Amino acid sequence: MTVSVDLSGKTALVMGVANARSLGWAIAEQLLAAGCRVGFSYQGERLKSELDKLLVGREGVWTQQADATSEEDMTALFTRVREEFGHLDILVHSIAFAPRAAMEGRFVDTTADDWNTALNVSAYTLVSAARHAEPLLREGASIVSLTYHASQQVVPKYNVMAVAKAALEAATRYLAADLGPAGVRVNTISAGAMRTVAARSIPGFGNLYDEAGRRAVLGRHATPEEVGKLALFLLSDLGSGVTGQTMYVDAGASITTMPLQ
Ligand code: NAD
Repeated sequence: MTVSVDLSGKTALVMGVANARSLGWAIAEQLLAAGCRVGFSYQGERLKSELDKLLVGREGVWTQQADATSEEDMTALFTRVREEFGHLDILVHSIAFAPRAAMEGRFVDTTADDWNTALNVSAYTLVSAARHAEPLLREGASIVSLTYHASQQVVPKYNVMAVAKAALEAATRYLAADLGPAGVRVNTISAGAMRTVAARSIPGFGNLYDEAGRRAVLGRHATPEEVGKLALFLLSDLGSGVTGQTMYVDAGASITTMPLQ
């Protein structure tokens, strides 16, 4: 049996592509390959040229600057979505940030400012994006974000970002409950450690990455492409019965307590 995903006639907004290594880009590549029309938002003008390079020669794409923590930017972004598409079938949230100081020291020393920044950027922006998108979402629409297993178990130095991911996972369930009656699904993908710009800002990420590789029962790391494929499942009709879930794509790294050999 051959199953192919056809998203022609569907529309998507992908928030948080910084470069070709971004997990948001791995998801966007799957959406584009399936024939979806995709709009992209980027945080600041510094990131525009990288995104433009990725999109050279692609049809049906557009970009807009939007800091996800700015109400003004979010209003302008979703006004653009309405103008470009009229409606929205797919929303991808691939955004996270915590001040470096909050990830260098002890968790107990987290300042209120750093806590507020991390949770605002990494968790609240999903709620804000869902609220702005809601009037444009049709029955069958689907929202996906990215989380990490540090929400469930202590990962050294992940600190306040782990709390933000726990909030994101809980927010996913509450958003799924609010939007479910309209036929809109909300899920989050828990990705294994992958070498991206955001990951490089985590102190000791190299050790974390190596340990994940040793623990993974598939004997290798999961790949961004595999994140993209799980997202395609969740964002298409294949995932039509799945909502409110945290789904792992980490080659089994999170199910072990130590390397198997
Ligand atoms: P990335 O650096 O490529 O993407 C992070 C994006 O967040 C960037 O595009 C950045 O501009 C954007 N961003 C940060 N603050 C923003 C703001 N205020 N407004 C708008 N955009 C903002 O790194 P990535 O690893 O692809 O991260 C994407 C998601 O995947 C994040 O939620 C991250 O926590 C998650 N994740 C990553 C890994 C990993 O190992 N790389 C593992 C699990 C989950």
